[in-house]
Amino acid sequence: MQLYYYVDKHAGYNDNHVVHATGCPFLPSDGARRFLGTFYTATAAIQQARKFYSSAMGCEHCCPVAVKKSLTTQHSVALKHMVQL
Ligand SMILES: [Zn+2]
Repeated sequence: MQLYYYVDKHAGYNDNHVVHATGCPFLPSDGARRFLGTFYTATAAIQQARKFYSSAMGCEHCCPVAVKKSLTTQHSVALKHMVQL
């Protein structure tokens, strides 16, 4: 199922920009979020968010933590970039 995904414009704790899906109770208000697009997976949404914020990460509530594992293997370049920050 495709969902609308947004990224928080303001960095949260650890300077991360959190990605949320539509319907998440932690979704920022209209002015505080950037629309990413519609995606089938949270992983794809986070990948898109990293084009704007290299420190983007998935919300633990609406974007399952397990996503991080696949990011480690498939997007090592993005992670390398994060380490440099
Ligand atoms: Zn969320």
